[in-house]
Amino acid sequence: MGRGASGKGDLRAADWLVQEMKRRGAQPFEGTSYTHPFTYAINVFEGEMALGDGKQNWSPGVDYIIHSKSNSGKGKASIVYIDKSDSSRFKNSSLKNKAAVLPKLIFSQWMKKGNTQRLQWLYSAACIVLLTEDKLVMGLSDQVFPTVVFECKQSKWSRKLTHLHWDVEQAVVQHNAQNIVGKIEGTQVKDSFIVFSAHYDHLGAMGNSTYFPGANDNASGVSMVLEWINYFTTHPPKYSILFLLFAGEEAGLKGSTRWVEEHIPVLPQIRFLFNLDLVGTGEEGIMLVNGTLYPAEVERIKQINNQSKGLPFIKTRGPAANSDHYPFYLHKVPCFFLYTLGGIAYYHDVFDKPETLRLTHYTDVFQLITQFQNEW
Ligand SMILES: [Zn+2]
Repeated sequence: MGRGASGKGDLRAADWLVQEMKRRGAQPFEGTSYTHPFTYAINVFEGEMALGDGKQNWSPGVDYIIHSKSNSGKGKASIVYIDKSDSSRFKNSSLKNKAAVLPKLIFSQWMKKGNTQRLQWLYSAACIVLLTEDKLVMGLSDQVFPTVVFECKQSKWSRKLTHLHWDVEQAVVQHNAQNIVGKIEGTQVKDSFIVFSAHYDHLGAMGNSTYFPGANDNASGVSMVLEWINYFTTHPPKYSILFLLFAGEEAGLKGSTRWVEEHIPVLPQIRFLFNLDLVGTGEEGIMLVNGTLYPAEVERIKQINNQSKGLPFIKTRGPAANSDHYPFYLHKVPCFFLYTLGGIAYYHDVFDKPETLRLTHYTDVFQLITQFQNEW
């Protein structure tokens, strides 16, 4: 179901991950539970999801996606096309009971400029379709527009279309999610931790028949963390190791933020955190986010890689709020966020599937980080 709040696939994934933690030999971190529960608000699409010209419904996820802030709605209406040239039409024409179709760029500009009059005019439409040449990228939100909003591939669109039919069911829900946490105790330094983290949630379902598999994002990272549980049960580590599998990442780092907020006293005990998110490619090497903050560590990783010749490049960049390492970074926990570069570019779409993810340098990444942290 795409491991999201929409469709509640994340709860099924959580159950499975708890079993895997046990089976592979990780201990609970606190008490007897492997879970850290939390709640967040999110706009979900669990019912009808249809858009078409009345003759046929188009393919969700391929021809169009729902905007993360779309409202519910069902109807049919004649189309009003809006261009850059006629962006002042809001003064003298009505969009009531119409389907408004316009380039996403125009909509983005109105949003950016806070163009309230034009936006209110647009929201009075029964349905809005934003046309884009870019890849369709699904997102998540807890906000809701006043009307139904789709994004559609410009190339799939015919200007001759006169009518649209649509049916969308959404609801903002309070979703009960859980982070999954396991531990392997160190042989020498028990109260100091190396952390391996990855988010196991993804975008969930879009309606009742489409979902986002999220193979690279981030089943790849989760499976590598699970591999490390196996590794450290047979190679007992000097420092204690924590395995943090976060939920709610795609909704805005919800799980990691809550875990950090509720574990402030533990944070100074973390020696280093490796966050993995999108590690299924590597044809163009890896990126270390926060690499610029830890040049000595980067240098050592490069030396190890020069010997093993596993990865074609080790690249670095500065801090970025783009995955679950970020709440830790804000609390001064030393950390890298590692993702692979190159290869297949499916991202936040229905094509990010296990069948096409080649895991080209998966073993190289695993061995590189394993060797690096074994030297501590
Ligand atoms: Zn991700």
